[in-house]
Amino acid sequence: MRKLLLILLDGVPYANSRRLFGNLEGWVQSGEARVWRMRSVLPSTSGACYASIHTGTPPQVHGIVGNAVRRRLDLPDVFSEVVRAGGVTGAVTHSFWSEFFNRYPFDPVRDIEYDEPGGPITHGRFHTMTGDSSYNQMTPSDADLFATLTRLCEVKGIDYGLLHTCTLDSMGHRYFHDCEEMDDACYRMDEMLAGFLPRWRRAGYDVVVTADHGQDARGHHGGAGEAQQEFAFYYFGDAVMPEASVMLDQLALAPSILRRMGVGVPLSMKAEAFMKG
Ligand SMILES: [Zn+2]
Repeated sequence: MRKLLLILLDGVPYANSRRLFGNLEGWVQSGEARVWRMRSVLPSTSGACYASIHTGTPPQVHGIVGNAVRRRLDLPDVFSEVVRAGGVTGAVTHSFWSEFFNRYPFDPVRDIEYDEPGGPITHGRFHTMTGDSSYNQMTPSDADLFATLTRLCEVKGIDYGLLHTCTLDSMGHRYFHDCEEMDDACYRMDEMLAGFLPRWRRAGYDVVVTADHGQDARGHHGGAGEAQQEFAFYYFGDAVMPEASVMLDQLALAPSILRRMGVGVPLSMKAEAFMKG
């Protein structure tokens, strides 16, 4: 089974990635990485996007129409299929992911950290952002999240790992995008990520760095259009990929990950995988 890490930076519009992530762009320039545009499902709301990213089905099928709608989904997803194929999965994410893909509701003591050999999330490390507001984001340091994922790679031997962080989405809702605060937040995220990414590559992982949706100039998303729906998709690996000008479909991410890892794609994932080989 090929190994892959999906790094999901919540709420980063396309222009921010291409303008402010100097390390990722440097690796595109040097040939280590390739970059595309990807378009989110509608609504371009976080919960709806998480469910679509991992099940490969649209909100009109999985039914997560907003962040207030949460339950354990009864569709196959990337975690369930990797485990079914004998792989080990890891998640370092917001608690919504544990609810959608393992169990609902999230019990902060039982579920903040678990190691469950049967999966579907074999090794889960979560945070809830309880109490978050415009005054206090309640997001963990991304360096700590990256370190935790690295530990799951090196100590637990995960085959598939998902890291999801809301730092930049919260910054966008709070400060919008044309400001020093966002310049600095993206700069720091890029530098922290760059401290870990070569180590993941040396350990044999393909790495995808992308977002769940964009944000418009007022920090909004949920609706349609380029700013809210489109984001950058960086890929470190040697899979055969579409031309750089092709707009990637968020619904094709789950079957692409499974196909790249050598795991069977369930019938519920109807979009054609864009990663080949
Ligand atoms: Zn989001």
